[in-house]
Amino acid sequence: MIQYKSTRGGDHLRTAASAVIKGIAEDRGLFVPDSIPALPFRPGEMVGRPYKEVAKAVIGAFFTDYTEEEIQACVDGAYDEKFEAEDIVPVVGAGDAFFLELYHGKTAAFKDMALSILPYLLTTAMKKEKEEKKIAILTATSGDTGKAALEGFADVPGTEIIVFYPSDGVSEVQKRQMTTQEGANTHVFGIRGNFDDAQTGVKQIFDDEAFNAALEQRGFRLSSANSINIGRLVPQVAYYVYGYIKLIEQGVIREGDPVNIVVPTGNFGNILASYYAGRMGIPVNRFICASNTNKVLTDFINTGEYNTGRPFHVTYSPSMDILISSNLERLLYHLSGSPEEVRKMMEKLAQEGHYSVSGAVREGMKPFWGGFADDEETLESVRGMYREHGYLMDTHTAVAYKVYEDYRAETGDLTPTLLASTASAYKFASSVNRALEMPEEADGFACVRALETETGVKVPSGLKDLDQKAVRHPAVIEKTALRQAIEDSLK
Ligand SMILES: *Cc1c(COP(=O)(O)O)cnc(C)c1O
Repeated sequence: MIQYKSTRGGDHLRTAASAVIKGIAEDRGLFVPDSIPALPFRPGEMVGRPYKEVAKAVIGAFFTDYTEEEIQACVDGAYDEKFEAEDIVPVVGAGDAFFLELYHGKTAAFKDMALSILPYLLTTAMKKEKEEKKIAILTATSGDTGKAALEGFADVPGTEIIVFYPSDGVSEVQKRQMTTQEGANTHVFGIRGNFDDAQTGVKQIFDDEAFNAALEQRGFRLSSANSINIGRLVPQVAYYVYGYIKLIEQGVIREGDPVNIVVPTGNFGNILASYYAGRMGIPVNRFICASNTNKVLTDFINTGEYNTGRPFHVTYSPSMDILISSNLERLLYHLSGSPEEVRKMMEKLAQEGHYSVSGAVREGMKPFWGGFADDEETLESVRGMYREHGYLMDTHTAVAYKVYEDYRAETGDLTPTLLASTASAYKFASSVNRALEMPEEADGFACVRALETETGVKVPSGLKDLDQKAVRHPAVIEKTALRQAIEDSLK
């Protein structure tokens, strides 16, 4: 039986179900499994098996307090026709890498992989833990998480979902995706401020005991759909395992051969999931962590110092514009084995904006390689791949590919490589059109149509005709008005 504990040591052991409901530990640490399970199969045995089967086995290995039938039902509900690719996660060779296409879900970004199953994991957990209150999911988003959470939770009984996004900090397509959201339990607010304001506001609400007590009186418990929730992390492990099996199936590797994994990184959730896949037994040579100009993680991997004392850049890969990568805390825990050490580093980060890791942690970081691409390099990467290989990448995936090319040039390492492809190019069409040197368009929606005409790649149905859809959530509020908005939503 695997149990969950806080990275900072200040919470009791919990079942997975309890950790999923809670979201974040009592001491503000993150929940981690007390041991990482071994793969429940040999990868070679699973060649040709559908995604759902791999996901069920991997998630079941972590969430041992859920029954097999419960996990099966969660997986069946999540990975169905909502995904526009028949095999859910196609693995496509282009240029020097194998692209793990994680963006064929409803909102056209990889967040769907976890957020389409989280509502099932959560509602199952509520039954198991006999939770009788309604769960109100609060989410601050820089664009992709919000929409994926809205789609995941729309009309899920026993839940309300409230999303705050920076009114001027998301792409036109992203904003319209959220403001047109259907579902009687969905609530969406733009705020006058940036993503950090939204994130900080939401964190303060989680910490506000009086406010939480008042909501509980009215029958609501707050929870989070951000990637601090273990119910988001674990489903992501499955697709790295699946990607490895696919490479065997395609004859690229034989069972047991090592691979590299490249991940365009923001909050460190996705790359941490690949690390868990490695700990389960997938032979990973290098974890390559790709950043944009906000390269806190590149510097951290190269120096052992995490330092947020730097300007924040708005880039063409906005979902990676982040200076505090929350999930790194989990890696620090696994490498140090010391909740005390983690707590000290996190306190130093909160007070002084930086911390350094011990020699042992640096040693453990050796399989990680860090690099970054600036905006110009990102656009060149999109353009080069499309012109030389006819393969269309979004701007986040393009950052990862550029960093991977740098890695190959510097190390000469030709190990077969899986690259996490995190969004459809259409989600960031205006930047992609610029990369392809196409004429300017009137707005983001015209960019989508022009890109389809240019490339012939099908527009994901969730992004089609977005500008024709009715806006249901026009509200834009002050960043000081979050509590009021929550009270009004939870009527
Ligand atoms: C969220 C996101 C990322 C960053 O993923 P993390 O798990 O936060 O590191 C990268 N690309 C896209 C398109 C995203 O939406």
